[in-house]
Amino acid sequence: LQKRVPVTGSKDELDDLASTFNQMLDRIQSLVSGIREMGDNMAHDLKSPVTRIRGTAELTLLQGETLEEFHSMAAGTIEESDRLLDMINTMLVISRTRAGEGDFHFESMDLTQMIQEACDLFAPVAEDKDIAFSCYAPGRFEVTADVNMLQRAFSNLLDNAIKYTNPGGQITVQMIKKTDALVAIQITDTGPGIALQFHERIFDRFFRVESSRTSPGSGLGLSFARAIVREHKGDIHVKSSPGEGACFTLTLPYCNFQVI
Ligand code: ADP
Repeated sequence: LQKRVPVTGSKDELDDLASTFNQMLDRIQSLVSGIREMGDNMAHDLKSPVTRIRGTAELTLLQGETLEEFHSMAAGTIEESDRLLDMINTMLVISRTRAGEGDFHFESMDLTQMIQEACDLFAPVAEDKDIAFSCYAPGRFEVTADVNMLQRAFSNLLDNAIKYTNPGGQITVQMIKKTDALVAIQITDTGPGIALQFHERIFDRFFRVESSRTSPGSGLGLSFARAIVREHKGDIHVKSSPGEGACFTLTLPYCNFQVI
């Protein structure tokens, strides 16, 4: 990242691009310095995305010759940087939420509608992968929640179910009135399942079961989802064994229920 694309001063488009690219490298460099300053193991966990960014940037320096090549390689660097920023933002939300300093805007909302809308969004993604997808709700549950945060938490569970289930599999989302105060949302898949010894660890920041590492992911999704749901006075648990799929249950307190 210390290297720079030579700027010739010719003021043409390639020269402009070279100087923009150098500015981008400066920003990445300062991001990396910032991460180092965090002074805990976060820097270690963020090493691989930074390494990927460095790789793309270096490739651009070594191989970029034409304007098109610079464009496409710079786009790759931007994409990786965005992914890294996304991870950093997620980490910040997790740690602020755990510290009780999260930025939440609670309001009364229709949980059933939110779940159905998320399912409508994810069902085509599952079906594209030849996974059967169904969603059931016995009625309307009204909860007090930060819609945006809860949506993101629930989406992480759906995203995982689709990611870890093979074509030909099945995903079922079911809302259940557990008690007079609690609603449970179960996401059941027919994926590879999770061994008992990992049932708690998968909720740790950055933890990924070794066999999942072939799928894309950062290991932050469940940690984020649990932190958010706990902020809503609910929780997330998993029931699973290898080869038997997984069932993630998200529980939340509700204030009103109405049969549809
Ligand atoms: P990511 O999916 O990005 O790795 P998560 O925090 O969402 O991160 O999940 C942590 C780990 O839990 C995953 O890497 C995977 O090993 C395991 N996991 C999560 N959901 C499932 C699932 N539905 N089926 C099997 N394994 C899962």
